Amino acid sequence: MSKSPQEIFNFDITADDCVKCGKCIPVCTIHNVNADEVTSPRGFLDLLGAYKRGNLELDKTAKDIFESCFLCTNCVDVCPKTLPVDMVIEQVRSDIGKKFGIAWYKRLFFLLLRHRWMNDIAFKLGWVFQTCGFKIKAETDSMNSRFSLPMLKADRVLPSLRKTSFLNSNPENIDNGGKRKVAVFIGCLANYNYVDVGNSLLDILETLEIDAFLAKSQKCCGAPAYFTGDFDTVNHNAKFNIEYFESFSKDVEAIIIPEATCSAMLKIDYEHFFHDQPEWKERAKVIKDKIFMATEWLQHHTHLEQVLKTKKEDTRIVTYHDPCHARKMQGVYKEPRNLVRKNYNIVEMSDPNVCCGFGGITMQSEKYHFAKAAGIPKADMINKTEADVVTAECSACRMQINSSLGYTESKTVFKNPIELIAEALKR
Ligand code: SF4
Ligand code: SF4
Repeated sequence: MSKSPQEIFNFDITADDCVKCGKCIPVCTIHNVNADEVTSPRGFLDLLGAYKRGNLELDKTAKDIFESCFLCTNCVDVCPKTLPVDMVIEQVRSDIGKKFGIAWYKRLFFLLLRHRWMNDIAFKLGWVFQTCGFKIKAETDSMNSRFSLPMLKADRVLPSLRKTSFLNSNPENIDNGGKRKVAVFIGCLANYNYVDVGNSLLDILETLEIDAFLAKSQKCCGAPAYFTGDFDTVNHNAKFNIEYFESFSKDVEAIIIPEATCSAMLKIDYEHFFHDQPEWKERAKVIKDKIFMATEWLQHHTHLEQVLKTKKEDTRIVTYHDPCHARKMQGVYKEPRNLVRKNYNIVEMSDPNVCCGFGGITMQSEKYHFAKAAGIPKADMINKTEADVVTAECSACRMQINSSLGYTESKTVFKNPIELIAEALKR
């Protein structure tokens, strides 16, 4: 991408760059479930160009169209001009948010994401009362709503809540010998729901004798708000996190993250977001060199692979799904496979790079029919491998894939590669 962010976000320049070759159409997640030219990458770009030139009003129909993109970046990956369709759609969603406001339940959720103490209380209360509104499925760490609401369908699976979050169940500084030290950014889903991810990462660091700093003041990376157009929340959380990371980054070798979306947000999207705030853009750039997905750092900076070679084989078959924010945005796809392969038999699904259909808060609520339609083919693809476990370093993918597997009555369970690696180390 050779254009400056100012040119990219000048929508008509990006729109004019589209040569209408159509290479993006077959891979477009929304076009595959809603085969209409307006909900395709080149359709989005055309409309954005018209909006910029004043030929398109940002009305409810336009809002509906621009909120239909999954932000999966499949189009960017195949586009001969690498046009950043996801970035311009994220940007126009801010205009949509300003014009129409953000729905009350999203505003409430983003308010919680700004304040960890509020989040801690809300999730604790949620844990106490979750059985009133939800049926719990302990075997998959998930639950179904007992009623259907406009933003929450009863047939979908959600992650269940834990009594105590990952960050609140562990000390901030964990001494594993003191020779090396990393910070851990855990992400909200792994902090409040899939807590075994963080605990497994701590087990791995203990085996490798690497100290862990849990950076307990970390705030949500802001990705849910960014994808929804609530730029005030992104601005608030991103500035806080950058300042916070600067305060300890010299004391640690890396900030490792077992979550693709959080890692991509901190490492790549912060810089895009701050394109018109030069000081913050520079600070985001400096901090990004310290940020790694957990498997990426463990593979390239430790002897974990050698340790795993000394452990027993597991007979379970594993298939790996590539999260969009890992493979396409950060180029991380070999590392999790390489580490998992040391102790498990990996059977690749027909197209691990196809988006799972998570798509963000709007897609998971008002537009869940699209998420469901995109998710079921992914579940079918997983089922065809006959794998015991599907793995991906992303809890958003986990939430969506668990829901999709539920529709197909699959026996396959989801685990983060970090959990599989920690299990292998215990054998
Ligand atoms: S980001 Fe994904 S859903 Fe959106 S236009 Fe591109 S391919 Fe389609
Ligand atoms: S691949 Fe790129 S240039 Fe071709 S139609 Fe899609 S967005 Fe336009």
